Amino acid sequence: MKPLTQPPPDFLAKMRSLLAADEYDAFVAAYDRPPVAGLRVNTLKIAPEEFTTLAPFSLAPLGDWEPAAFTVADDSRPGRHPYHDAGLYYLQDPSAMTAAVTLAPAPGELVLDLAAAPGGKASHLAARLLAPGGGSPLRHALADDSLLVANEVHAGRARLLADNLARWGAVNVLVTHETPERLAAAFGPVFDRVLIDAPCSGEAMFRRLESIEWSAAIVTACARRQRGVLAAAPDLVRPGGRLLYATCAFSPEENEGVVGNFLAGRSDFHLIEPPPITGADRGRPEWAGDGAGAAQLARAVRLWPHRFHGEGHFLALMARAGHDEGTGPAPFNRRPPTAAQLRLWRDFAAAALTIDLPEEQLHAHGERLYLLPRRAIDTGRLHLVRYGLPLGETRPGHFRPGHDLALCLTDADARAVRWPADDPRLAAYLAGHDLPSSDLPPDPDGWTLVTVDGFGLGWGKRAGGRLKNHYPHALRRG
Ligand code: SAM
Repeated sequence: MKPLTQPPPDFLAKMRSLLAADEYDAFVAAYDRPPVAGLRVNTLKIAPEEFTTLAPFSLAPLGDWEPAAFTVADDSRPGRHPYHDAGLYYLQDPSAMTAAVTLAPAPGELVLDLAAAPGGKASHLAARLLAPGGGSPLRHALADDSLLVANEVHAGRARLLADNLARWGAVNVLVTHETPERLAAAFGPVFDRVLIDAPCSGEAMFRRLESIEWSAAIVTACARRQRGVLAAAPDLVRPGGRLLYATCAFSPEENEGVVGNFLAGRSDFHLIEPPPITGADRGRPEWAGDGAGAAQLARAVRLWPHRFHGEGHFLALMARAGHDEGTGPAPFNRRPPTAAQLRLWRDFAAAALTIDLPEEQLHAHGERLYLLPRRAIDTGRLHLVRYGLPLGETRPGHFRPGHDLALCLTDADARAVRWPADDPRLAAYLAGHDLPSSDLPPDPDGWTLVTVDGFGLGWGKRAGGRLKNHYPHALRRG
């Protein structure tokens, strides 16, 4: 095994000055152990107990605080398994799994993840926003009024965020690529819950990194940026709503310092008790610096690698005073498909799907058709990366279904082939090969959902005795 990356000496000296001697010794000893491999089951697709009987990995539950959270106790490389391609789980540091549990979104709510890429916490929020239920993510979403707005300021990372949410089977989501200020100007204080997973010095990621860039100046610059990002919160959180500030840094300047400073200027926000999480420690009010009298910072959460089964995090859950009195955001100005587009969609749906999608939620953007969330809110002039579920494209004479649609279906929703995870035909499909129709059930020609044990993976099209492969080129295995 390659030697673990050790934290920079200046960082260790700083932690030594902050922590009691025995606590510091335990903290520094954690860097001699490998990072924790966490896996979170996608409850939009499968119940955790069902997944543990299906998955060929050795999984250990992390605790009652999140029944979908596990550690992988072997080197089975779950990132390369077809269940990963089908979005049955997300590989994530267990510390990061505490954010959605702490913010605790409820069904029907309007939720914003302000700094969401690559989408670990956003996928968790999307799962927690739906009450547990049976059926595919799409069936489930059709009866749901919640909306998750997942935003990322960097364009390339916003695309990655959209791809990860597609794999997850998230339907009632809006992915935007914006600055916090422009989001606030477009939406105003309308969100029931807002997550600010702030860009930070990443001090809790040292065990996972090959090399580390750290200095006191980087921490100072991060703290300055974090104050700026958090300053947008009052223009986004509704009265009576909740705000969660999170980092994966240990430095007080980025945590108690930023939150203390925010609270000093905003008497309408205060820290509240988070739900209990096994192994979690408290915030340190004495580390708040000038951030006025934030005794309440003891309600913040610190996760340490020597106390919690993960890399470390800081969380501060806040409530905004007041009650929701507004009428809520204005509805989105939907562009219905043309009559010709609707005909092509209906022909495709009648032949390939067994699930009915409400036509009053269909939205056309050029050739592309989307299923909008039931609660589609106005977006003004924001840069949208994805609104709702991209269904596919209308081409001359036919409709071509999109990959995102496949990923929120099961074999109960569409004409489908169902192969077990170790079936060589599945490996051939994921590698991009066409398949002979002698390998397929006796269905008519046309679009066919390819599934692993019933979970949608992608599309194929039957014609001329073959299943032509439509798995996206970028995802094919070499
Ligand atoms: N929440 C993500 C997840 O769970 O996968 C991780 C987010 S990461 C800690 C912080 C994100 O903030 C990065 O994607 C980064 O691009 C973004 N960011 C950087 N500068 C920002 C700024 N000034 N305002 C808002 N977001 C910013």
